[in-house]
Amino acid sequence: MAVSKTHPPDRIMELYKEGQRDFGENKVQELTSKYEVLPKDIRWHLIGHLQRNKVKYIAPFVHLIHSVDSLELLQEIDKQAAKCGRVIDVLLQFHIAAETTKFGLDLPEAEALLAHNLPNVRIRGVMGMATFTDDMDQVRREFDTLMGIFTHLKSRWFRESAWFDIRSMGMSGDWPVAVAAGSNMVRIGSLLFGERNYPVE
Ligand SMILES: *Cc1c(COP(=O)(O)O)cnc(C)c1O
Repeated sequence: MAVSKTHPPDRIMELYKEGQRDFGENKVQELTSKYEVLPKDIRWHLIGHLQRNKVKYIAPFVHLIHSVDSLELLQEIDKQAAKCGRVIDVLLQFHIAAETTKFGLDLPEAEALLAHNLPNVRIRGVMGMATFTDDMDQVRREFDTLMGIFTHLKSRWFRESAWFDIRSMGMSGDWPVAVAAGSNMVRIGSLLFGERNYPVE
């Protein structure tokens, strides 16, 4: 998936013309304004922290929300999806990094959330961001942790559900480590678009 945050629609169109259809943004405002001007067969991913009061703006069209980090947020997505007559695909974001600033659930929080029956959301898998470090052994351990969580949840909650299958992990700086650890969805920004002029949040 191509992370197009901060980059204008004409840059997105360059990749679109090469066949790329999955694009990710971390801000609701930026996502909706790009959605409005770009081709409607683009699959839009929301990868950044999502506030409950903004879910309604993306509910009609979003393809996959990677950043579910609370029951309250999941309930709001369910409610807005129902209003649109949709079932919205989501990932549970886990806190796997050493940094305290990164959002995400831990395993007990996730299992508490999974006990709720929300018919208009479909939990497709997990997402995580590793620590921003050159120490690839540490990064590898963090991705292994996320894979362990995925495997546990799959066997405990989704044994019969073929759709619980996405491991969203890996960015420009650590994607080979993520793929080796079992990622099947990498989120690549700067390798495709060049450096952004503000740091990753
Ligand atoms: C910005 C961002 C990315 C992409 O980062 P790059 O290092 O530019 O590839 C991936 N995931 C999330 C959640 C991001 O915010």
